[in-house]
Amino acid sequence: RPSIVWVRDDLRIADNPALSAAVARDEPVIALFVLDEQSPGIRPLGGAARWWLHRSLQSLAARLSEHGGVLVLRRGRAADVVPALVAESGAGAVFWNRRYGEPERTIDAALKTGLRADGLDVQSFAANLLFEPWTVQTGQGTPFQVFTPFWRACLQAPAPRLPLPGPAVIRGPGRAPASEDLASWGLLPTGPDWSGGLAETWEPGEPAARARLRDFLREDLAGYDRARDEPAAGVTSGLSPRLRWGEVSPFTVWHETLQGDAEPGRFLTELGWREFAWHTLFHFPALARQNLRPAFDAFPWPPLDPGHLRAWQRGRTGIPLVDAGMRELWRTGTMHNRVRMVTASFLVKNLLIDWRRGEEWFWDTLVDADAASNPFNWQWVAGSGADAAPYFRVFNPELQAQKFDPDGRYVGQWAPEYRGQHADTAGPIVDLRASRAAALDAYEYVKRAG
Ligand code: FAD
Repeated sequence: RPSIVWVRDDLRIADNPALSAAVARDEPVIALFVLDEQSPGIRPLGGAARWWLHRSLQSLAARLSEHGGVLVLRRGRAADVVPALVAESGAGAVFWNRRYGEPERTIDAALKTGLRADGLDVQSFAANLLFEPWTVQTGQGTPFQVFTPFWRACLQAPAPRLPLPGPAVIRGPGRAPASEDLASWGLLPTGPDWSGGLAETWEPGEPAARARLRDFLREDLAGYDRARDEPAAGVTSGLSPRLRWGEVSPFTVWHETLQGDAEPGRFLTELGWREFAWHTLFHFPALARQNLRPAFDAFPWPPLDPGHLRAWQRGRTGIPLVDAGMRELWRTGTMHNRVRMVTASFLVKNLLIDWRRGEEWFWDTLVDADAASNPFNWQWVAGSGADAAPYFRVFNPELQAQKFDPDGRYVGQWAPEYRGQHADTAGPIVDLRASRAAALDAYEYVKRAG
């Protein structure tokens, strides 16, 4: 009786505990991916994420078949699709790696109960976080709300396990169950196809993820602490979409970093922020919809100015660093972290547009858009989140550019018409000083509510 491995945010063969456990059962293995756009609470993927998923599934199917395995693609509600494949294939076991969002956990728990009741061997594994959200807590037994003690507790917990090697041979079933055609899922954009810049920037899939990790450790990690805040330096890892889609596991990143020649420095702490974002989402599932600090519900957002929102989305605000960042995002599906902070701060604190509108745009355009990190970081910038930047700390995009892009290389690459200009002469859609003052006035309501 075959084993089904239900793959989700873990599009890899190496360090995939569910896959390894299935192979160890010594029965034929069927890998299943379900495109579930119907189960309650599942957030539909954004456009850039759909593009990535298509390409990464292509790569995974090729990897599995190189090792003798098969990938079966099915669309529908997981609660229907998984039992249907069990019945069709006569499977005796279903294995998966755990997910941490609330709707996903609800689906998985119900399936586990139902399939076990039918006599199947059903097991789930820790694969995508170094420290599962319920394994670390404060001395009072509550979730952490501040990063530093959270990360200290993680580092005192049992160390992340070693990554598992990928199975050499994955024996498929004699007759593979029918698979839907990936192209029929319509994950790639058509009319217009805006994905050219994504394809030039990225090669999704496990082999490219592993190659990037190796190159980063060899070439860039040594300069990471010094230059990681400079968007033109190109020293950050670029691993965020790889981790988002599980093309490389955090355990692999962790141990290969520790085994490399360069000092890990700040880099492993950044992985800690990813863990903290998931810790926060697990304990506060409404992270993308609700302020983590309820006092922010009193913030008097003015009526939305659609022209301002559109100018921000298109990189036409007249603020050079903001426009450069928004255009990099549109073209490549990513944006440097420092510039994400500056563009987000500008939306929330200069345009006075609700952080949720920004979160939605990033959700649609980022290839690493992640149910935890995206809303977590938006709330961090907005001041409403866990361990957030204080609201009154408004990033000045002009000073940020002077400090982190002093020779204008980054702005020159993405918004060359601004060369030699600064925010005052470039025709900004709002006055930075006046809008900042208006934001601080509005913040008074939050202070009174809090
Ligand atoms: P590196 O500097 O090489 O960092 C290594 C890894 O650490 C990253 O790949 C990522 O997994 C993790 N990491 C680093 N910084 C953060 C952080 N602040 N929060 C969580 N994880 C972090 N990151 C996402 O993965 N998905 C998102 O949807 C996302 N949305 C963001 C929205 C805003 C408004 C801001 C300010 C930041 C957002 N980030 C998000 C965090 C961060 O900008 C990216 O993780 C980082 O830029 C990815 O580049 P890198 O892989 O080269 O990072």
